[in-house]
Amino acid sequence: RAQLSIASGVREFATTAPAAIAVIDGDRRLSYAALHDRSSRLANALLSSGLIPGDTVALLLANQLEYPEAAAGLAKAGLVMVPLNPRLTPSEIAFIVEHSRARALIVDAALGDRAGAVAGALEIVLVTGDGGSYEAALAGAPSRDPRVSVSENDPFCVAYTSGTTGNPKGVLISHRSRALTFYASALEWGLGPGRRSIAVAPMYHGAGFAFGYGAIHTGGTVSMLRSWDPERLLAMIEKDRAQSVFMVPTHAQTIRALGDLALRRHDLSSLDTLFFNAAALPVPLKEWVLDTFPAVGVHELYGSTEAGIVTNLRPAEARRKAGSVGHAWFMTEVRIVDDIGAPVPAGSPGELFSRSPYLMNGYLRDPEATRACMTEDGFLTSGDIAVSDDEGFIRIVDRKKDLIITGGVNVYPRDVEIAIDGCPGVVESAVVGERDETWGERVVAYVVGETSANEIESHLRLRLAGYKIPKAIRFVPQLPRNSAGKVLKRELRKDA
Ligand code: ATP
Repeated sequence: RAQLSIASGVREFATTAPAAIAVIDGDRRLSYAALHDRSSRLANALLSSGLIPGDTVALLLANQLEYPEAAAGLAKAGLVMVPLNPRLTPSEIAFIVEHSRARALIVDAALGDRAGAVAGALEIVLVTGDGGSYEAALAGAPSRDPRVSVSENDPFCVAYTSGTTGNPKGVLISHRSRALTFYASALEWGLGPGRRSIAVAPMYHGAGFAFGYGAIHTGGTVSMLRSWDPERLLAMIEKDRAQSVFMVPTHAQTIRALGDLALRRHDLSSLDTLFFNAAALPVPLKEWVLDTFPAVGVHELYGSTEAGIVTNLRPAEARRKAGSVGHAWFMTEVRIVDDIGAPVPAGSPGELFSRSPYLMNGYLRDPEATRACMTEDGFLTSGDIAVSDDEGFIRIVDRKKDLIITGGVNVYPRDVEIAIDGCPGVVESAVVGERDETWGERVVAYVVGETSANEIESHLRLRLAGYKIPKAIRFVPQLPRNSAGKVLKRELRKDA
Protein backbone atom coordinates (compact mmCIF):
# COMPACT_ATOMS: atom_id res chain seq x y z
CA ARG A 1 0.00 0.00 0.00
CA ALA A 2 1.14 3.55 -0.65
CA GLN A 3 2.91 5.02 2.35
CA LEU A 4 2.34 8.48 3.75
CA SER A 5 5.36 10.69 3.16
CA ILE A 6 6.11 14.31 3.80
CA ALA A 7 7.32 14.50 0.17
CA SER A 8 3.91 13.60 -1.24
CA GLY A 9 2.45 17.12 -1.08
CA VAL A 10 5.25 18.54 -3.23
CA ARG A 11 4.86 15.65 -5.71
CA GLU A 12 1.09 16.10 -5.93
CA PHE A 13 1.02 19.86 -6.41
CA ALA A 14 3.93 19.75 -8.88
CA THR A 15 1.54 17.71 -11.04
CA THR A 16 -1.78 19.44 -10.38
CA ALA A 17 -0.60 23.05 -9.93
CA PRO A 18 2.98 23.24 -11.27
CA ALA A 19 2.98 27.02 -11.73
CA ALA A 20 1.48 27.81 -8.31
CA ILE A 21 3.98 29.52 -6.01
CA ALA A 22 5.04 27.33 -3.11
CA VAL A 23 7.67 29.52 -1.44
CA ILE A 24 8.52 33.24 -1.38
CA ASP A 25 11.88 34.19 0.10
CA GLY A 26 12.74 37.84 -0.55
CA ASP A 27 12.92 38.18 -4.34
CA ARG A 28 13.11 34.44 -4.83
CA ARG A 29 9.84 32.71 -5.73
CA LEU A 30 9.68 28.98 -6.19
CA SER A 31 6.80 27.28 -8.02
CA TYR A 32 5.71 23.76 -7.11
CA ALA A 33 7.32 22.49 -10.33
CA ALA A 34 10.63 24.15 -9.39
CA LEU A 35 10.44 22.95 -5.79
CA HIS A 36 9.87 19.40 -7.04
CA ASP A 37 12.76 19.68 -9.47
CA ARG A 38 15.23 21.21 -7.03
CA SER A 39 14.36 18.89 -4.15
CA SER A 40 14.82 15.85 -6.42
CA ARG A 41 18.22 17.21 -7.49
CA LEU A 42 19.23 17.60 -3.86
CA ALA A 43 18.09 14.04 -3.10
CA ASN A 44 20.10 12.66 -6.04
CA ALA A 45 23.16 14.74 -5.15
CA LEU A 46 23.22 13.39 -1.61
CA LEU A 47 22.59 9.78 -2.65
CA SER A 48 25.31 9.92 -5.28
CA SER A 49 27.82 11.25 -2.76
CA GLY A 50 27.50 8.06 -0.79
CA LEU A 51 24.69 8.68 1.70
CA ILE A 52 22.27 5.80 2.06
CA PRO A 53 18.59 5.88 3.09
CA GLY A 54 18.29 6.14 6.84
CA ASP A 55 21.37 8.37 7.17
CA THR A 56 20.93 11.63 9.00
CA VAL A 57 21.58 15.08 7.53
CA ALA A 58 21.80 18.17 9.74
CA LEU A 59 20.20 21.45 8.64
CA LEU A 60 21.51 24.77 9.89
CA LEU A 61 19.20 27.17 8.13
CA ALA A 62 17.09 30.21 8.86
CA ASN A 63 13.50 30.35 7.57
CA GLN A 64 14.50 30.34 3.91
CA LEU A 65 13.62 28.72 0.64
CA GLU A 66 16.13 25.92 1.17
CA TYR A 67 14.26 24.71 4.26
CA PRO A 68 11.23 23.19 2.53
CA GLU A 69 13.48 22.24 -0.38
CA ALA A 70 15.75 20.24 1.92
CA ALA A 71 12.82 18.71 3.83
CA ALA A 72 11.26 17.45 0.59
CA GLY A 73 14.60 16.41 -0.89
CA LEU A 74 15.70 14.41 2.13
CA ALA A 75 12.29 12.71 2.30
CA LYS A 76 12.53 11.73 -1.37
CA ALA A 77 15.95 10.17 -0.67
CA GLY A 78 14.81 8.41 2.52
CA LEU A 79 17.30 10.53 4.49
CA VAL A 80 16.46 11.85 7.93
CA MET A 81 16.73 15.53 8.71
CA VAL A 82 18.21 16.88 11.93
CA PRO A 83 17.17 20.52 12.31
CA LEU A 84 19.59 22.73 14.23
CA ASN A 85 18.70 25.95 15.95
CA PRO A 86 20.99 28.66 14.49
CA ARG A 87 21.29 30.22 17.92
CA LEU A 88 22.95 27.18 19.45
CA THR A 89 26.59 27.53 20.44
CA PRO A 90 29.21 25.55 18.48
CA SER A 91 29.48 23.02 21.32
CA GLU A 92 25.70 22.51 21.41
CA ILE A 93 25.75 21.98 17.65
CA ALA A 94 28.63 19.53 18.04
CA PHE A 95 26.64 17.55 20.63
CA ILE A 96 23.69 17.13 18.27
CA VAL A 97 25.79 16.37 15.20
CA GLU A 98 27.62 13.68 17.13
CA HIS A 99 24.58 12.24 18.89
CA SER A 100 22.55 12.04 15.68
CA ARG A 101 25.58 10.68 13.77
CA ALA A 102 24.89 13.16 11.00
CA ARG A 103 27.01 12.48 7.90
CA ALA A 104 26.13 15.69 6.07
CA LEU A 105 25.22 19.28 6.81
CA ILE A 106 23.28 21.82 4.79
CA VAL A 107 24.16 25.27 6.08
CA ASP A 108 23.17 28.79 5.13
CA ALA A 109 26.08 30.90 3.92
CA ALA A 110 25.40 33.46 6.65
CA LEU A 111 25.62 30.79 9.35
CA GLY A 112 28.78 29.14 8.09
CA ASP A 113 30.87 30.27 11.07
CA ARG A 114 28.63 28.24 13.38
CA ALA A 115 29.41 25.09 11.48
CA GLY A 116 33.17 25.51 11.67
CA ALA A 117 33.51 23.44 14.82
CA VAL A 118 31.75 20.40 13.37
CA ALA A 119 32.76 20.56 9.72
CA GLY A 120 35.62 18.13 10.34
CA ALA A 121 33.23 15.48 11.68
CA LEU A 122 31.05 15.61 8.56
CA GLU A 123 31.58 13.95 5.19
CA ILE A 124 29.55 16.48 3.20
CA VAL A 125 28.92 20.16 3.84
CA LEU A 126 26.68 22.03 1.42
CA VAL A 127 26.66 25.80 1.75
CA THR A 128 23.71 27.71 0.28
CA GLY A 129 23.95 30.96 -1.66
CA ASP A 130 25.16 32.07 -5.08
CA GLY A 131 28.29 30.20 -6.06
CA GLY A 132 27.99 27.94 -3.00
CA SER A 133 28.40 24.16 -2.93
CA TYR A 134 24.64 23.63 -2.42
CA GLU A 135 23.74 25.24 -5.76
CA ALA A 136 26.65 23.45 -7.46
CA ALA A 137 25.42 20.09 -6.15
CA LEU A 138 21.90 20.77 -7.43
CA ALA A 139 23.16 21.90 -10.82
CA GLY A 140 25.20 18.74 -11.23
CA ALA A 141 22.48 16.24 -10.26
CA PRO A 142 19.61 14.77 -12.28
CA SER A 143 16.11 16.09 -11.63
CA ARG A 144 14.34 12.73 -11.70
CA ASP A 145 12.52 11.99 -8.40
CA PRO A 146 14.53 9.14 -6.84
CA ARG A 147 11.41 7.89 -5.02
CA VAL A 148 13.37 5.89 -2.45
CA SER A 149 10.74 3.79 -0.75
CA VAL A 150 10.32 4.46 2.96
CA SER A 151 7.82 3.14 5.41
CA GLU A 152 5.48 5.78 6.77
CA ASN A 153 6.60 4.76 10.24
CA ASP A 154 10.21 5.63 9.44
CA PRO A 155 11.42 8.92 10.87
CA PHE A 156 11.78 11.82 8.49
CA CYS A 157 13.27 13.92 11.26
CA VAL A 158 15.15 13.81 14.55
CA ALA A 159 14.15 16.98 16.37
CA TYR A 160 16.21 17.84 19.40
CA THR A 161 14.31 19.27 22.35
CA SER A 162 15.55 22.66 23.41
CA GLY A 163 16.61 21.21 26.69
CA THR A 164 14.62 23.58 28.88
CA THR A 165 14.28 20.61 31.25
CA GLY A 166 17.65 18.88 30.80
CA ASN A 167 20.00 17.61 28.06
CA PRO A 168 18.53 17.80 24.57
CA LYS A 169 16.93 14.54 23.47
CA GLY A 170 16.49 13.45 19.84
CA VAL A 171 12.79 13.04 19.11
CA LEU A 172 12.10 10.60 16.25
CA ILE A 173 9.19 11.88 14.18
CA SER A 174 7.66 9.68 11.50
CA HIS A 175 6.42 10.60 8.04
CA ARG A 176 3.00 9.36 9.09
CA SER A 177 2.87 11.62 12.14
CA ARG A 178 3.58 14.84 10.27
CA ALA A 179 1.77 14.00 7.01
CA LEU A 180 -1.35 13.33 9.09
CA THR A 181 -0.81 16.56 11.02
CA PHE A 182 -0.80 18.45 7.70
CA TYR A 183 -3.96 16.74 6.45
CA ALA A 184 -5.68 17.33 9.78
CA SER A 185 -4.62 21.01 9.57
CA ALA A 186 -6.29 21.21 6.17
CA LEU A 187 -9.52 19.87 7.65
CA GLU A 188 -9.40 21.77 10.91
CA TRP A 189 -8.10 25.13 9.77
CA GLY A 190 -8.76 25.22 6.05
CA LEU A 191 -5.09 25.08 5.00
CA GLY A 192 -4.99 24.17 1.33
CA PRO A 193 -4.35 25.32 -2.23
CA GLY A 194 -4.45 29.09 -2.60
CA ARG A 195 -3.90 29.79 1.12
CA ARG A 196 -1.15 32.28 1.83
CA SER A 197 0.78 32.15 5.08
CA ILE A 198 4.06 33.26 6.60
CA ALA A 199 6.67 31.09 8.30
CA VAL A 200 7.32 33.31 11.32
CA ALA A 201 8.35 30.88 14.06
CA PRO A 202 11.70 29.24 13.24
CA MET A 203 11.30 26.11 11.15
CA TYR A 204 13.86 24.08 13.11
CA HIS A 205 11.23 24.03 15.86
CA GLY A 206 8.44 21.45 15.61
CA ALA A 207 5.59 23.94 15.50
CA GLY A 208 7.42 26.34 13.15
CA PHE A 209 8.00 23.42 10.79
CA ALA A 210 4.42 22.15 11.06
CA PHE A 211 3.12 25.53 9.89
CA GLY A 212 5.87 26.48 7.44
CA TYR A 213 6.07 23.14 5.69
CA GLY A 214 2.42 22.21 6.33
CA ALA A 215 1.37 25.12 4.11
CA ILE A 216 3.39 23.61 1.27
CA HIS A 217 2.30 20.03 1.84
CA THR A 218 -1.29 21.22 1.42
CA GLY A 219 -0.69 23.29 -1.74
CA GLY A 220 -0.51 26.81 -0.30
CA THR A 221 2.07 29.58 -0.57
CA VAL A 222 4.40 30.37 2.30
CA SER A 223 6.55 33.48 2.69
CA MET A 224 9.73 33.11 4.68
CA LEU A 225 10.46 35.55 7.48
CA ARG A 226 14.19 34.97 7.91
CA SER A 227 14.42 36.20 11.45
CA TRP A 228 12.03 37.80 13.85
CA ASP A 229 11.32 41.45 13.16
CA PRO A 230 7.80 42.70 13.93
CA GLU A 231 7.99 45.59 11.42
CA ARG A 232 9.11 43.24 8.65
CA LEU A 233 6.33 40.82 9.49
CA LEU A 234 3.67 43.54 9.17
CA ALA A 235 5.19 44.68 5.87
CA MET A 236 5.25 41.08 4.63
CA ILE A 237 1.60 40.48 5.53
CA GLU A 238 0.72 43.56 3.52
CA LYS A 239 2.97 42.79 0.54
CA ASP A 240 2.16 39.07 0.20
CA ARG A 241 -1.50 39.44 1.28
CA ALA A 242 -0.95 36.76 3.91
CA GLN A 243 -4.03 35.15 5.39
CA SER A 244 -2.66 33.11 8.25
CA VAL A 245 0.24 33.58 10.60
CA PHE A 246 1.52 31.28 13.30
CA MET A 247 3.54 32.80 16.10
CA VAL A 248 4.58 32.39 19.71
CA PRO A 249 3.27 34.70 22.45
CA THR A 250 6.50 36.73 22.64
CA HIS A 251 6.01 37.70 19.00
CA ALA A 252 2.61 39.19 19.80
CA GLN A 253 4.19 41.00 22.74
CA THR A 254 6.72 42.74 20.50
CA ILE A 255 4.04 43.63 17.92
CA ARG A 256 2.02 45.22 20.70
CA ALA A 257 5.10 47.15 21.83
CA LEU A 258 5.34 48.77 18.38
CA GLY A 259 2.18 50.71 19.21
CA ASP A 260 -1.08 51.31 17.35
CA LEU A 261 0.47 53.73 14.90
CA ALA A 262 2.79 51.07 13.48
CA LEU A 263 -0.15 48.70 13.05
CA ARG A 264 -2.24 51.34 11.30
CA ARG A 265 0.57 52.07 8.84
CA HIS A 266 0.03 48.67 7.22
CA ASP A 267 -2.89 47.18 5.36
CA LEU A 268 -3.46 43.94 7.26
CA SER A 269 -6.93 43.30 5.86
CA SER A 270 -5.89 40.01 4.17
CA LEU A 271 -5.25 38.41 7.57
CA ASP A 272 -8.00 36.02 8.68
CA THR A 273 -6.33 33.53 11.05
CA LEU A 274 -3.73 33.71 13.82
CA PHE A 275 -2.28 30.67 15.57
CA PHE A 276 -0.47 30.71 18.89
CA ASN A 277 1.53 27.93 20.47
CA ALA A 278 4.71 27.01 22.39
CA ALA A 279 3.98 28.82 25.64
CA ALA A 280 0.97 30.10 27.54
CA LEU A 281 -0.62 33.14 25.92
CA PRO A 282 -1.25 35.51 28.85
CA VAL A 283 -4.94 36.49 29.01
CA PRO A 284 -4.33 40.29 28.81
CA LEU A 285 -2.17 39.77 25.71
CA LYS A 286 -4.80 37.54 24.17
CA GLU A 287 -7.44 40.19 24.82
CA TRP A 288 -5.24 42.76 23.11
CA VAL A 289 -4.92 40.42 20.10
CA LEU A 290 -8.70 39.90 19.97
CA ASP A 291 -9.42 43.63 20.29
CA THR A 292 -6.76 44.64 17.77
CA PHE A 293 -7.75 42.05 15.14
CA PRO A 294 -11.51 41.71 15.59
CA ALA A 295 -12.04 40.11 12.18
CA VAL A 296 -9.32 37.47 12.67
CA GLY A 297 -9.94 33.97 14.04
CA VAL A 298 -7.52 33.27 16.87
CA HIS A 299 -6.49 29.68 17.59
CA GLU A 300 -4.48 28.70 20.61
CA LEU A 301 -2.66 25.38 20.40
CA TYR A 302 -0.98 23.28 22.98
CA GLY A 303 1.49 20.56 22.10
CA SER A 304 5.09 19.46 22.15
CA THR A 305 7.84 18.13 19.93
CA GLU A 306 7.10 14.64 21.24
CA ALA A 307 3.29 14.69 20.99
CA GLY A 308 2.67 17.12 18.11
CA ILE A 309 -0.49 19.19 18.41
CA VAL A 310 -2.55 18.01 21.39
CA THR A 311 -5.29 20.58 21.98
CA ASN A 312 -6.84 23.56 20.19
CA LEU A 313 -8.88 26.45 21.56
CA ARG A 314 -10.88 27.59 18.57
CA PRO A 315 -11.90 31.16 17.68
CA ALA A 316 -15.54 30.71 18.76
CA GLU A 317 -14.42 30.26 22.37
CA ALA A 318 -11.32 32.47 22.23
CA ARG A 319 -12.69 35.13 24.56
CA ARG A 320 -15.02 33.11 26.79
CA LYS A 321 -12.34 30.50 27.49
CA ALA A 322 -9.20 32.69 27.37
CA GLY A 323 -6.56 31.06 29.56
CA SER A 324 -7.54 27.59 28.38
CA VAL A 325 -5.98 25.62 25.51
CA GLY A 326 -9.31 24.13 24.44
CA HIS A 327 -10.19 20.56 23.63
CA ALA A 328 -8.27 17.57 22.31
CA TRP A 329 -7.27 18.07 18.68
CA PHE A 330 -8.40 15.99 15.72
CA MET A 331 -7.82 12.22 16.27
CA THR A 332 -6.33 12.89 19.73
CA GLU A 333 -7.31 11.46 23.11
CA VAL A 334 -6.34 13.30 26.27
CA ARG A 335 -6.22 11.91 29.80
CA ILE A 336 -5.55 13.87 32.99
CA VAL A 337 -4.48 11.54 35.78
CA ASP A 338 -3.16 11.46 39.34
CA ASP A 339 0.14 9.98 40.53
CA ILE A 340 -1.13 6.40 40.23
CA GLY A 341 -2.61 6.94 36.79
CA ALA A 342 -6.28 7.26 37.78
CA PRO A 343 -8.29 9.98 35.97
CA VAL A 344 -8.88 13.06 38.14
CA PRO A 345 -12.29 14.75 38.28
CA ALA A 346 -12.96 18.07 36.48
CA GLY A 347 -11.43 20.95 38.42
CA SER A 348 -8.57 18.89 39.91
CA PRO A 349 -5.02 19.17 38.60
CA GLY A 350 -3.31 16.09 37.18
CA GLU A 351 -0.67 15.07 34.68
CA LEU A 352 -1.72 15.29 31.04
CA PHE A 353 -1.23 12.29 28.73
CA SER A 354 -2.20 12.05 25.08
CA ARG A 355 -2.60 9.35 22.45
CA SER A 356 -2.80 10.12 18.74
CA PRO A 357 -1.25 9.23 15.39
CA TYR A 358 1.08 12.22 15.80
CA LEU A 359 3.10 10.90 18.73
CA MET A 360 6.85 10.48 18.30
CA ASN A 361 8.36 7.06 17.66
CA GLY A 362 10.60 7.55 20.70
CA TYR A 363 13.90 9.17 21.64
CA LEU A 364 16.91 8.38 19.48
CA ARG A 365 19.15 5.78 21.17
CA ASP A 366 17.42 6.26 24.48
CA PRO A 367 14.98 3.40 25.05
CA GLU A 368 14.93 4.09 28.77
CA ALA A 369 13.73 7.68 28.36
CA THR A 370 11.22 6.47 25.75
CA ARG A 371 9.80 3.83 28.11
CA ALA A 372 9.64 6.30 30.95
CA CYS A 373 7.25 8.62 29.11
CA MET A 374 4.86 6.08 27.54
CA THR A 375 2.11 4.03 29.15
CA GLU A 376 1.48 0.42 28.12
CA ASP A 377 -1.64 1.43 26.22
CA GLY A 378 0.19 4.00 24.12
CA PHE A 379 -0.38 7.27 25.97
CA LEU A 380 2.52 9.72 26.16
CA THR A 381 3.11 11.95 29.14
CA SER A 382 3.47 15.65 28.49
CA GLY A 383 5.24 16.43 31.74
CA ASP A 384 2.58 19.11 32.20
CA ILE A 385 0.00 19.54 34.93
CA ALA A 386 -3.42 20.38 33.55
CA VAL A 387 -7.01 20.90 34.73
CA SER A 388 -10.17 20.32 32.77
CA ASP A 389 -13.24 22.44 33.56
CA ASP A 390 -16.77 21.03 33.65
CA GLU A 391 -17.17 21.69 29.93
CA GLY A 392 -13.97 19.77 29.14
CA PHE A 393 -11.83 22.81 28.35
CA ILE A 394 -8.24 22.15 29.37
CA ARG A 395 -6.00 24.63 31.13
CA ILE A 396 -2.25 24.03 31.43
CA VAL A 397 -1.35 24.75 35.02
CA ASP A 398 2.38 24.26 34.79
CA ARG A 399 5.22 21.96 33.94
CA LYS A 400 5.47 19.16 36.46
CA LYS A 401 9.23 19.79 36.71
CA ASP A 402 8.69 23.44 37.58
CA LEU A 403 6.43 22.62 40.51
CA ILE A 404 7.76 24.13 43.73
CA ILE A 405 7.35 22.17 46.96
CA THR A 406 7.73 24.51 49.89
CA GLY A 407 7.24 23.22 53.40
CA GLY A 408 5.57 20.14 51.87
CA VAL A 409 2.91 22.04 49.93
CA ASN A 410 2.74 22.43 46.16
CA VAL A 411 3.02 25.83 44.53
CA TYR A 412 2.47 26.10 40.79
CA PRO A 413 4.69 28.94 39.56
CA ARG A 414 2.13 29.86 36.85
CA ASP A 415 -0.46 30.78 39.51
CA VAL A 416 2.02 33.13 41.15
CA GLU A 417 3.20 34.57 37.81
CA ILE A 418 -0.36 35.34 36.71
CA ALA A 419 -0.96 37.17 40.00
CA ILE A 420 2.32 39.12 39.73
CA ASP A 421 1.63 40.02 36.09
CA GLY A 422 -1.62 41.63 37.21
CA CYS A 423 0.25 44.11 39.41
CA PRO A 424 0.48 47.61 37.84
CA GLY A 425 3.92 48.33 36.40
CA VAL A 426 4.85 44.66 35.90
CA VAL A 427 5.73 43.65 32.34
CA GLU A 428 6.33 39.96 33.01
CA SER A 429 7.58 37.58 35.62
CA ALA A 430 8.97 34.11 36.19
CA VAL A 431 8.76 32.20 39.43
CA VAL A 432 11.13 29.40 40.46
CA GLY A 433 12.00 27.37 43.54
CA GLU A 434 15.22 28.12 45.39
CA ARG A 435 16.76 25.60 47.73
CA ASP A 436 16.01 26.49 51.36
CA GLU A 437 17.17 24.76 54.53
CA THR A 438 13.92 25.26 56.40
CA TRP A 439 11.34 24.92 53.65
CA GLY A 440 13.08 22.57 51.21
CA GLU A 441 12.37 25.12 48.52
CA ARG A 442 11.29 28.72 48.72
CA VAL A 443 9.36 30.71 46.14
CA VAL A 444 11.46 33.31 44.29
CA ALA A 445 10.17 35.72 41.63
CA TYR A 446 12.09 37.38 38.80
CA VAL A 447 10.26 40.46 37.60
CA VAL A 448 10.58 42.76 34.62
CA GLY A 449 8.89 46.09 35.19
CA GLU A 450 8.81 49.37 37.03
CA THR A 451 7.42 48.90 40.50
CA SER A 452 8.78 47.83 43.87
CA ALA A 453 8.94 44.55 45.76
CA ASN A 454 6.71 46.09 48.45
CA GLU A 455 4.04 47.01 45.96
CA ILE A 456 4.06 43.55 44.43
CA GLU A 457 3.82 41.98 47.88
CA SER A 458 0.83 44.01 48.93
CA HIS A 459 -0.82 43.24 45.58
CA LEU A 460 -0.23 39.51 46.12
CA ARG A 461 -1.35 39.49 49.73
CA LEU A 462 -4.93 40.16 48.58
CA ARG A 463 -4.79 37.44 45.95
CA LEU A 464 -2.62 34.52 47.05
CA ALA A 465 -2.28 32.29 50.09
CA GLY A 466 0.71 33.30 52.23
CA TYR A 467 2.87 30.28 51.33
CA LYS A 468 2.64 31.17 47.62
CA ILE A 469 3.95 34.71 48.09
CA PRO A 470 7.58 34.93 46.94
CA LYS A 471 10.15 35.10 49.72
CA ALA A 472 12.37 37.12 47.37
CA ILE A 473 11.52 39.37 44.44
CA ARG A 474 14.37 40.17 42.05
CA PHE A 475 14.11 42.76 39.32
CA VAL A 476 15.80 41.90 36.02
CA PRO A 477 15.98 43.81 32.71
CA GLN A 478 14.62 40.77 30.84
CA LEU A 479 13.87 37.09 31.31
CA PRO A 480 16.17 34.51 29.71
CA ARG A 481 14.28 32.88 26.84
CA ASN A 482 15.02 30.33 24.19
CA SER A 483 14.29 31.18 20.57
CA ALA A 484 10.83 29.60 20.77
CA GLY A 485 10.03 32.27 23.35
CA LYS A 486 10.09 29.98 26.37
CA VAL A 487 11.47 31.25 29.63
CA LEU A 488 14.57 29.27 30.57
CA LYS A 489 13.76 28.54 34.19
CA ARG A 490 16.86 26.37 34.34
CA GLU A 491 18.94 29.54 33.94
CA LEU A 492 16.99 31.32 36.64
CA ARG A 493 17.37 28.36 39.00
CA LYS A 494 21.09 28.42 38.34
CA ASP A 495 21.05 32.08 39.29
CA ALA A 496 18.92 31.42 42.35
P1 ATP B 1 12.21 20.44 26.66
O1 ATP B 1 11.25 19.31 26.43
O2 ATP B 1 13.61 20.01 26.71
O3 ATP B 1 11.82 21.27 27.82
P2 ATP B 1 10.99 22.34 24.87
O4 ATP B 1 10.35 23.06 25.97
O5 ATP B 1 11.48 23.18 23.76
O6 ATP B 1 12.13 21.39 25.36
P3 ATP B 1 8.67 21.61 23.39
O7 ATP B 1 8.24 20.28 22.94
O8 ATP B 1 8.89 22.63 22.37
O9 ATP B 1 9.96 21.33 24.24
O10 ATP B 1 7.67 22.24 24.43
C1 ATP B 1 6.48 21.64 24.84
C2 ATP B 1 5.98 22.30 26.10
O11 ATP B 1 5.66 23.68 25.87
C3 ATP B 1 4.71 21.71 26.61
O12 ATP B 1 4.93 20.52 27.31
C4 ATP B 1 4.18 22.85 27.49
O13 ATP B 1 4.82 22.86 28.74
C5 ATP B 1 4.60 24.09 26.73
N1 ATP B 1 3.47 24.60 25.91
C6 ATP B 1 3.26 24.42 24.59
N2 ATP B 1 2.15 25.04 24.18
C7 ATP B 1 1.61 25.64 25.26
C8 ATP B 1 0.43 26.43 25.50
N3 ATP B 1 -0.40 26.77 24.51
N4 ATP B 1 0.20 26.84 26.76
C9 ATP B 1 1.04 26.53 27.76
N5 ATP B 1 2.16 25.80 27.61
C10 ATP B 1 2.45 25.35 26.38
